[in-house]
Amino acid sequence: MRVGYPRALLYYHCFPFWKGFLEHFGHQVCVSGQTTKKLLESGIEKTVGEACLPVKIFFGHALALKDSVDAVFLPRLVSLEQKTYICPKFMGLPSMIRASLPELPPLIEVEVDARKDGLRGSNGLWRAACDAAVQLGDGSARQTKAAFHAGQSMQKEYEQMLLAGLDPNQAIASLDCRDSWDNRERDRQRSSGRRNGGKAEGRGTGESGLSNNMPKPNILLLGHPYNVHDGGFNLGLKTRLSGMHFRVTTMESVPARNALYEADKLSKAIFWSLGRRMVGTAMHLFAAEQVAGVMHLAAFGCGPDSMIGEVVEREARRLSIPFISLVLDEHTGEAGFLTRVEAFGEMLTRRGRL
Ligand code: SF4
Repeated sequence: MRVGYPRALLYYHCFPFWKGFLEHFGHQVCVSGQTTKKLLESGIEKTVGEACLPVKIFFGHALALKDSVDAVFLPRLVSLEQKTYICPKFMGLPSMIRASLPELPPLIEVEVDARKDGLRGSNGLWRAACDAAVQLGDGSARQTKAAFHAGQSMQKEYEQMLLAGLDPNQAIASLDCRDSWDNRERDRQRSSGRRNGGKAEGRGTGESGLSNNMPKPNILLLGHPYNVHDGGFNLGLKTRLSGMHFRVTTMESVPARNALYEADKLSKAIFWSLGRRMVGTAMHLFAAEQVAGVMHLAAFGCGPDSMIGEVVEREARRLSIPFISLVLDEHTGEAGFLTRVEAFGEMLTRRGRL
C-alpha cells in the first residue's frame, strides 16, 4: 500500500520511526514535497482563520498527497513524554482534517499518548504502532513487534545523525541511502581521529560541547522543528544565516537528556514536550557559553511559542546574550523579515561577541 505522510508538523521529529515501521510491513511511504507558496495557499483555503500557520501548512501537505496515495497517515498526538503534553492543536488535527478534507483517501489515525504507555520507555509509540498495524490489516503481534523495533532503530539512527550535525532534511534523505551515510560517518571519524591525534571527538554541538575551533559565529535558532526546518515557512532562514557566515545551532544538536536536565532546574516545570526541550537547549548552551545570539522563531498566535520565547529571553537578557523574536504568519513580508535578520547579525558582529 502507498501510505502518504505529510511533510509538516512533527514530520521533522518522528517521521523516521513511522517510516521504519511502515516499510517493515512492505508499505511504500510517500512524503509530500517541499512547502511552496501554492501549497500554502491550498492549505489556507481549507483551514479556519484562527489556525496557526504550521497547521495551515499541514493542510496543504495533506491535500498534496490526495491523488497519489492509498491512505494518509495521521497520528493524533497527545503526549510525547510522561507528564508532558503537546499543543491541543495536534490533538484536534485528525478531526479537523477529516471534517475539512473529505476528498482525502482513508486516514490511518492513531493516538500517541505517553501517559497511556503500554511499553515502558516507548512514549506511547508501542500502543500507536499496534493500532496502526490493525488499521492497515498487517501481521501478527510478533510481526508488529519486529516492525516497531525497525522503527525505533531508524529513529535512533536519525537522531544520531542530528547530533552529528546533519540537518533533519539531509538526515531523512540519508535514511534512504544508509550505506553511504555509514561510510561517510566512518570516514569522518577516521579523519577527525587523525586530526586529533587519535583522541575521540565530541558529537556536533552536543554533550561534549562545540568545537574549540569554531569556524563561524554561532546563532541558536530556537523554535518548533516544523518552524525551524521548513524553509517554506521561515523564508529560507537557515540558508540565509549560513550565507551571512553564521553557524546555526538548533535544538536537535543538543542531546535530549542534557536539555531536559537543564529544563528541570527551572522553578516551575514546563509541561509542553517540545517547549521543555527548547528551554533546556538554550540553558545548556548558555551555561557552556556557546552562543553569540538567539533567534526565536515563532508562529503568530502560538501560545506555547510566546511562553517559551519569554522564558528564554529573560535568561538571555540576564546573561547579556542578544535575543530576537521573529514571528511569522502568511502575511509576513520577506523584505521586512530579512531586514530584521540582517540587522541582528550586524549587531552581533559589532558587539564583538563572535
Ligand atoms: S505549538 Fe503553536 S505553532 Fe505548533 S501547532 Fe500549536 S499553536 Fe501551532
